[in-house]
Amino acid sequence: MFASVIVDIPSKSVNQVFDYRIPSGMEGLIRIGHRVLVPFGPRTIQGYVMSLNETTDFDPTRIKEIARTLDIEPVLTEEMITIAMYLADYYVDQYISVIETILPAALKANYKKVLRLADSHTAEAEQVLSSISGGAEAETKRLEPDALEALSPYLKSGDIQEETVITQHTKRKMALAVYSLKQADVDLSRAKKQQELYDVISAASDPIFVRDLVNDGFSNALINALHKKGLIAKVEAEMERDPYSDRVFTSDSPKVLNSEQQHAYGRITSAMDEHEAKTFLLHGITGSGKTEVYLQVIQKALDEGKTAIMLVPEIALTPQMVNRFKRRFGDDVAVLHSGLSHGEKYDEWRKIKEGRARVSVGARSSIFAPFENVGAIIVDEEHETTYKQSDRPMYHATEVAKFRSRYHNCPLILGTATPSLETFARSERGVYERLELTMRAGTKVLPEISIVDMSEEHRMGNTSIISGTLEAGIRERIEKGEQTVLLLNRRGYSNFQICQSCGYVPMCPNCDISLTYHKANQSLMCHYCGYESAVHRTCDNCQSDEVTFRGTGTEKVEEILRDMFDTEVVRMDNDTTRRKGMHEKLLDHFEQEEIPILLGTQMIAKGLDYPKVTLVGVLNADTMLNLPDFRANEKTYQLLTQVSGRAGRHELSGEVIFQTYNPTHYAIQLAKENDYRSFYDKEMAFRRLARYSPYYFHVLFTVSSEDIRKCLKATTHIHDTLVQEVSDQSIIVGPSPSPLERINRQYRFQIMLKYKREPELLKMLNTLDEHYHEAYRTEGISLRIDVDPLVI
Ligand code: ADP
Ligand code: ZN
Ligand code: ZN
Repeated sequence: MFASVIVDIPSKSVNQVFDYRIPSGMEGLIRIGHRVLVPFGPRTIQGYVMSLNETTDFDPTRIKEIARTLDIEPVLTEEMITIAMYLADYYVDQYISVIETILPAALKANYKKVLRLADSHTAEAEQVLSSISGGAEAETKRLEPDALEALSPYLKSGDIQEETVITQHTKRKMALAVYSLKQADVDLSRAKKQQELYDVISAASDPIFVRDLVNDGFSNALINALHKKGLIAKVEAEMERDPYSDRVFTSDSPKVLNSEQQHAYGRITSAMDEHEAKTFLLHGITGSGKTEVYLQVIQKALDEGKTAIMLVPEIALTPQMVNRFKRRFGDDVAVLHSGLSHGEKYDEWRKIKEGRARVSVGARSSIFAPFENVGAIIVDEEHETTYKQSDRPMYHATEVAKFRSRYHNCPLILGTATPSLETFARSERGVYERLELTMRAGTKVLPEISIVDMSEEHRMGNTSIISGTLEAGIRERIEKGEQTVLLLNRRGYSNFQICQSCGYVPMCPNCDISLTYHKANQSLMCHYCGYESAVHRTCDNCQSDEVTFRGTGTEKVEEILRDMFDTEVVRMDNDTTRRKGMHEKLLDHFEQEEIPILLGTQMIAKGLDYPKVTLVGVLNADTMLNLPDFRANEKTYQLLTQVSGRAGRHELSGEVIFQTYNPTHYAIQLAKENDYRSFYDKEMAFRRLARYSPYYFHVLFTVSSEDIRKCLKATTHIHDTLVQEVSDQSIIVGPSPSPLERINRQYRFQIMLKYKREPELLKMLNTLDEHYHEAYRTEGISLRIDVDPLVI
């Protein structure tokens, strides 16, 4: 028997399956989807079994044997293997990179180089190595340069050899537990507390963690007393990491659906009954009860013994969604998001794999949750760009969701108040079935929205970033004990520093962008590469001391608000939420302490649902409009609608204020009127004229290099290849510099391909990618092929 294995070459340059022989006696133990260790050249590396075959195309006498397997159960299902192949082809990437995206990071191999004594070695070599490392082996990376130098003669002579070893990340967390030894009645009447403890331990079917007993008020001394008496035994047992263990979720029962919800529920569940892989667009205004529909659809899947996957854009930002799921489904819920440690993610993943959790709630990569028998897949806020990974593999979670829906013959539900144009267009053509929720659930109504023209405001003499109308609105909320949410999509204190004498603006030395002033640490920072320098009070160009700061970020607005209203402000942006758990902390503080104002970047626009929030202000509705991206209008409409939806979700009615310099722009006007249909029609007309998605598909090629000439040469070559290979109906735009021409010292040039039908395209892209990899890898030129790009 032979196994075809995809190997984990750290350089990711090989997209090929290698055949290995299954050692005798291991037949049946090595299965498809297993992680294995295999010899590869002089090294041993990790690989994944893709298929088992009786024969091989390679020369059987030269085929090596699998060294060993790493798991008892395979880590990849056949479904996941098919998905990996499909995604690698579709998004023009390596199999191994997709496989390692599908699996939790904890299952990845960790390679390290060690120096070891050779089988035959001199006593001197042994002594030198041991004096440096304290043993017979040393990790190369940990050695000081002079230690390496001392060892180098022995490396040359072969007494000491360098080897690559694999360490596994999959650490299970072990902890001390106790269990009772005797089942017969034990009488500890003279030690009541001991009896109580013994009863607890002997009543449990599994060992109980000492830590849990101590938390419940039993002392270590008490536990030791029972141990001394020979009544209990101690063991090391695996303790599952549960990030939510310290939280109590009060249970919650389903609501009676209103007629629109009932209709949506009926259509979705009938597809479930018919085992139909149907895609639904659940188009419902904010607060219309989409989540309630998801919860009930999932309940039905569970009732039928199936599982369900729920995707949310970024779960760290929406702790309320986790709450609702935990309250409804309890321990059946696994949570997967970027805020968890590798170990926590691995434990949640195993809960799913071993069938102990039947519902997952998670961000993009949780679409790979290893469920079997999936009954429903839900993508909430389907328009969010976070569903597409911005690094390789550049996959879109909805694309994977469609694949899994077909695989399991189950419905896929795309929910949103502001569908992406692509999705809405498909619902117009009947590719997706559209279900509409047009009213807020219960008796609530959408908030009243007004627009403030900031040019007018300036003419009237108010140069503050807070208009008179907004100021009055906030004051009124403070007096009534209600809360305000303010959106400003720009962090830092000031956008840039400028010399009033010569006009000099400090720029990032690595990127094509001005540096942002951060007052708290008195620094100028680049938001693209992380470059940081101290603020100079005099101009670097002309030494004048007339330097000022322009543009306003969240850090400065926080100061302005504190001065204006003499009140506490919660600020949420990348700077205040960098540490783990800070999102939740800040939001809890805002809610529980009833802080009057929450100010934040777009991370506050999604999912928040607080009864006392009755005013939402958008300080600058134009930030997104000015992006060099054909989706700028769409993103503006979506962001304004989402953030407006935070106001007046409960008994108190809400109000929203958009501040803008473009009061008549249709994206802003139609967001105010909550008129998605008109926005869609208008935007589609523009997309048709400019020949953009959804009328055309796109592929974006970006070439980058530190050397601008190499960059141009490679881009020209791709352009020429495309001209030769694609049909006359397709459009090739560029080469042109990327919107940000230089990031992290790399020059960037791009070409956009727009096409309607190119049957041979994927094959061509994969060949192109391979060719570029071969030709340019060593030259410091990289090519990124983004299929169906979301950010141009
Ligand atoms: P969405 O997901 O569309 O923003 P939610 O499901 O969060 O909407 O619903 C908004 C609010 O209305 C929530 O507080 C929810 O509990 C409540 N709600 C939803 N459906 C109903 C219903 N049928 N009856 C009463 N309240 C409902
Ligand atoms: Zn100057
Ligand atoms: Zn930079």
